[in-house]
Amino acid sequence: MPAARPVTPGLAGIPDEVDVVVVGLGITGAGVALDAVTRGLSVLAVDAHDLAFGTSRWSSKLVHGGLRYLAQGRLAIARESAVERGILMDVTAPHLVHPLPMLTPVDDAMSRSRAALTWSGLHAGDLLRRTAHTSARTLPRPRRLNATETLSLAPALRADTLRGGLLGWDGQLEDDARLVVTVARTAASYGADVRTRAPVTSATGTGVELRDELTGATYAVRARAVVNATGVWAGDLDDRVRLRPSRGTHLVLRGSALPHTRVAVVVPLPGSASRFAMVLPQPDGTLHLGLTDVPAAGPVPDVPTPSEQEVDFLLDAVSSAFTTPPVRADVVGAYAGLRPLLEVAGTDATADLSRRHAVLTSRTGVTTVVGGKLTTYRRMAEDTLDAVVASARLAAGPCRTASLPLLGAGTPEQLRACAAPARLVRRFGTDGDLVLATARGATGLDDAELLAPPSEEVPVTLAELVFALTHEGAHDVDDLLERRTRVGLVAADRAVAEPLARRALALLSRATPAG
Ligand SMILES: Cc1cc2nc3c(=O)[nH]c(=O)nc-3n(C[C@H](O)[C@H](O)[C@H](O)COP(=O)(O)OP(=O)(O)OC[C@H]3O[C@@H](n4cnc5c(N)ncnc54)[C@H](O)[C@@H]3O)c2cc1C
Repeated sequence: MPAARPVTPGLAGIPDEVDVVVVGLGITGAGVALDAVTRGLSVLAVDAHDLAFGTSRWSSKLVHGGLRYLAQGRLAIARESAVERGILMDVTAPHLVHPLPMLTPVDDAMSRSRAALTWSGLHAGDLLRRTAHTSARTLPRPRRLNATETLSLAPALRADTLRGGLLGWDGQLEDDARLVVTVARTAASYGADVRTRAPVTSATGTGVELRDELTGATYAVRARAVVNATGVWAGDLDDRVRLRPSRGTHLVLRGSALPHTRVAVVVPLPGSASRFAMVLPQPDGTLHLGLTDVPAAGPVPDVPTPSEQEVDFLLDAVSSAFTTPPVRADVVGAYAGLRPLLEVAGTDATADLSRRHAVLTSRTGVTTVVGGKLTTYRRMAEDTLDAVVASARLAAGPCRTASLPLLGAGTPEQLRACAAPARLVRRFGTDGDLVLATARGATGLDDAELLAPPSEEVPVTLAELVFALTHEGAHDVDDLLERRTRVGLVAADRAVAEPLARRALALLSRATPAG
């Protein structure tokens, strides 16, 4: 097996021939790189910008059990989602995915039939959990709550019209970008060559041409298979893949906007049996309010932006549920991601790839994998490698990823026993100690300085920023604040944290490029 190496910006020293080139390092490409390298294949995996630069960092950060698919009668996808959720929570990433209580308030405005439908949905979801062999210790059974119990979980809810609540459970990611970085780093630890700042400019089934954004140098790499995992940009490398993205927006609120909200609150949208808005408490103390679904025609932007109408729509959607509903002044950040909808040739119709992934082979032999979910990334990678191994006749072992813990994974007991500070254990699992030891060694600073957050509202530490530079391929301030940590979701917090990011770069004697 090739030696472990860190994720690295730029292309210096890349091999000129590998078994598999993976293009794109969102969750899909990172998963494909890990699957391929652990089957014994040599892998070069690259991203044009950075790990988790695209849609993967703009999600709702949920690990879904497939309930919505069940409601659409799509049993196989629902089960696949529930199985993958169980694998993430119990085996591969128990440090990065925790159970999230999801509360649907039942108030005077909710009809009895809608409440009954929601309750039977929660039961069906619980059945999915059981058929996926996920224990009730990992995800508790649903419960009906009276109004007092409901208010104790979400005291900001409007009490005068509240009749009770319906409580279900799903998985929540510590941070979607952190999952991507962890999968990519795990792939690198098995010997995959994982590079950022490296756009692929052309691809066929037997190789790619790519550019090093740090030096301007161009390279050609021969491969026995090329996987296009570029998400909403997939059509740029395979002109037969035509996508018509739709935008999903979330707002970021301070926790104080809806005080003591420690559960996700699911607010049904009037006039629809299946649509709702969600208030999602985040591990850093903020609340995210989502989610819209708006067609986003035209060229795909690097970073999509939410519209003013979406902000109003989301605030309006939850306004009747709370005593003091959030208003515009409470919105401290907003972000949007693009869902890949596949254009169906010859019609105006689109096929919703956000339900199921597709593995397609182009006429030039490039294998494109697109669609799916963060939740199902492992299965998407397995399906892709099965297809690639068969078509390119690669000598590869079986897929190992269902039983392969990501770096830092540990049982709840192991995670509780970690000596590292809670924030580092939450974000790095059992590697929390490594993060701190690395930062001590690289800077010579003491723990007080390495662990002091720049303010109470901005809990980021110098230790994790240094580790991002030494082990996670971070290259500049944006990488540190937008993707290795998520401070950039709130512009004011980013301004507070920026000196710390520049200090990390200076301590490691890196230039501090603008941005
Ligand atoms: C609003 C929204 C909410 C969502 N919420 C959830 C959720 O809660 N749970 C869940 O499971 N799923 C969720 N999803 C789905 C999930 O986020 C996506 O399915 C997933 O992130 C797609 O990942 P990807 O790797 O395919 O694409 P991306 O993350 O977009 O990655 C593609 C990468 O390719 C790179 N790239 C592009 N062109 C090139 C090139 N020429 N050379 C090199 N690199 C290139 C880009 O820089 C990018 O990093 C959500 C999706 C949206 C839009």
